[in-house]
Amino acid sequence: MFSTVSRSLSRHAVRSSCRQFSSSRPRLAETQPAEIKKLGVIGAGQMGLGIALVAARAAGVPVTVVDNSQKSLDKGLAFADKLLAKDVSKEKISQSDADTARARLTPTTKTDDLNDVDMVIEAVPEILDLKLKIFSDLAHICPSHAVLATNTSSISITRIAAATSKDPTDLSASSRVLSTHFMNPVPVQKGVEIITGLQTSPATLATALEFCKRMGKIPSLSADSPGFLANRILMPYINEAIIALETGVGDRDSIDAIMKNGTNVPMGPLQLADFIGLDTCLSIMEVLHSGLGDSKYRPAVRLRQMVDAGWLGKKSGKGFYEY
Ligand code: NAD
Repeated sequence: MFSTVSRSLSRHAVRSSCRQFSSSRPRLAETQPAEIKKLGVIGAGQMGLGIALVAARAAGVPVTVVDNSQKSLDKGLAFADKLLAKDVSKEKISQSDADTARARLTPTTKTDDLNDVDMVIEAVPEILDLKLKIFSDLAHICPSHAVLATNTSSISITRIAAATSKDPTDLSASSRVLSTHFMNPVPVQKGVEIITGLQTSPATLATALEFCKRMGKIPSLSADSPGFLANRILMPYINEAIIALETGVGDRDSIDAIMKNGTNVPMGPLQLADFIGLDTCLSIMEVLHSGLGDSKYRPAVRLRQMVDAGWLGKKSGKGFYEY
């Protein structure tokens, strides 16, 4: 009897949670995507630069790349040059196509230069207040038709969308917000996780899906829940590997070797954490921990210590490995 009731309750919970997610997802039927003729990217780090380069190369659009640090812009564009030169040397692309793609990237430190784009993709660090401020600014700077996308790994899209206006009933900008969560490294990974907020319109979703396909990517939908799908699954795996390291279950090389050679992934979890950035990993674990309220998402002590030390992985030259 008890098990029958509990089964029927859990079926009801599953059905109502499915209803909750599906009713909050914009309906796509008969919605025409708008054409993206010019893209803006804000944040020229490893993700932003990768997104800009793929958009310029595969989708063939001009891209305004904004970063508040000239040093990051210079580093990002030098990296783009390196990637293009590598593809030319491997005969994946002609020199002339590489030059054309490179010429489509316009770097700037001024966010105001995003005043003529049809879509902007934000890829600044995973810091809630920073993202909220940027979306509040973008709502005023970008044209009134522009799609406002975030590359956040974990933060609520509904919350980011709400930052576009002080009036929650004003959907003029918030209906244009969604997440296009590209995977790292962007030129290589095909998947893009698309997440809508409560406010996102069907037209915004249709336009973003179409543009991701133009970029040669395979978009899939996830619900607006902490960490969405990719990081809800990936980050506890990485965090557990760090806990295994700090509690002596295995050393670095043993942890990475058994997962790499035993589960057929290209690299072990500690090396992957270095590639993602340990600051990003910590921010995502904090969002999972606070957003889901379950102690199983507690960030590893060693992860926090390494971020405190400034050992952020590949991008800072030191993480679990030296670079
Ligand atoms: P990053 O640290 O490599 O780059 C962030 C860039 O943003 C830097 O160049 C920085 O100078 C710039 N920036 C900071 N404040 C800014 C501002 N106010 N205006 C303009 N530019 C500013 O970070 P990343 O790894 O590229 O991550 C960016 C976003 O993508 C984060 O939300 C992260 O969670 C997400 N993401 C990261 C990965 C990954 O593997 N690293 C994967 C998917 C999604």
